[in-house]
Amino acid sequence: MDFSQVELTSDQLVFEKEIRELISENWTPNLSHIAVDHDRMPKPVRMEMAKRGWIHPDLAPDAGGAGLGEIELEVITNLFDEYYIPANVSSSLLIPTLEKFGSQWLKENVLPGIRTGELTTCLGYSEPDNGSDMAAATTRAVQDGDTWVINGQKMWTTWGNESDYVFLLTRTGAVEEKHRTLTMFLVPMNTPGVDATPVWILGGGRTNVTFYSDVTISDNYRIGPVNDGWSVMSEPLATEHGAGVVTEGVAPVNGSMGAGFSRVLQKLVDGAIQWAASRTMADGRSRLEDPLVRAALAEAMLDLEMCWNAEGELGKPMSAEALAKQADKLADMAAPEGLLDFGVDGSIAAGIIASERQHAPGTAVYGGTTEIYRNNLARRLGLPRPY
Ligand SMILES: Cc1cc2nc3c(=O)[nH]c(=O)nc-3n(C[C@H](O)[C@H](O)[C@H](O)COP(=O)(O)OP(=O)(O)OC[C@H]3O[C@@H](n4cnc5c(N)ncnc54)[C@H](O)[C@@H]3O)c2cc1C
Repeated sequence: MDFSQVELTSDQLVFEKEIRELISENWTPNLSHIAVDHDRMPKPVRMEMAKRGWIHPDLAPDAGGAGLGEIELEVITNLFDEYYIPANVSSSLLIPTLEKFGSQWLKENVLPGIRTGELTTCLGYSEPDNGSDMAAATTRAVQDGDTWVINGQKMWTTWGNESDYVFLLTRTGAVEEKHRTLTMFLVPMNTPGVDATPVWILGGGRTNVTFYSDVTISDNYRIGPVNDGWSVMSEPLATEHGAGVVTEGVAPVNGSMGAGFSRVLQKLVDGAIQWAASRTMADGRSRLEDPLVRAALAEAMLDLEMCWNAEGELGKPMSAEALAKQADKLADMAAPEGLLDFGVDGSIAAGIIASERQHAPGTAVYGGTTEIYRNNLARRLGLPRPY
């Protein structure tokens, strides 16, 4: 969406100024850090935002938010983007789940902090041998009176090193029973026996392997019925996939993955235009007049337009695949200067083309692979199974 066409009211301008000042006081953008999807909002900014209800600003003030409207949400999103501040995705996925399935104790003691954003969460679904097939999880939870003892290992627990809680998928019966013997917990990450070791990812950022060794927690941390974890995790999973979320070209603050990737694609296209505008051909004319360059930029802009308009579950596969394709194509177009990293003499647009070439392929994997999205879409369309 071209937000420059929206004229802000005087109240909205005051709001924008206030949030800009708050960010400027608490945060220095790291321009080398373009793909911030595996980083977490820095704590000083988060706590200041939390005080004002701006972490989940769409929630009502008495539910920990600020009851902001769509334009104000977009103002926040754009400022986060401008200052390279990561959004706080996983907690917004979990709030409705905790409201619906959380124990009374969780609702009273943990949910309020998650709503304001003072407490943070991460997602513990994937394991070394089970990613797409989450119902094959083997991390085991065994009940012992009023407590549970958890043992196992999760892979790719993004923010596992800096979250207060992990939304953990566990096995509480026979593995062969698959989705009928799963149970969900909200495990405090500071419980003895929880450990996170880093996995550094291409294009910058960290995720983690998390280990659970005799982790003993109260039954208060269970979410939903024993052995019905599949129903509990289905909702946040569907929301993460964009099912039921209509973005209409406007990315909600903590919104769909597709909207986030489209924003990165926008920056990539802007970087490629910057490269073309600052280079000349042998005859002295701008590269912007080179028909091959124009064709490449036009194709990238068309892809971007399609991604902005890809709603719901279409958003992620379309934008992830467009991002990876265009990162490659624009890198070819803008070589060699476009491939210089941030900070290297002569690099363009903070090295976005170089960094996206590394970052973009991963976008087709995390949050579910694009193949799995295609399967889901095919199922919803009533197409026959391929096997
Ligand atoms: C950077 C990063 C961050 C991540 N963050 C998190 C996180 O915070 N929490 C978390 O729980 N997980 C996280 N993940 C895990 C991610 O969701 C999984 O990697 C992903 O779901 C794929 O699982 P897998 O790696 O086990 O691959 P597999 O499931 O083994 O898949 C391998 C290949 O087979 C294909 N495939 C598998 N099954 C099917 C099928 N039924 N039909 C068609 N093709 C299929 C896949 O598309 C893929 O190409 C993250 C992953 C990455 C890379």
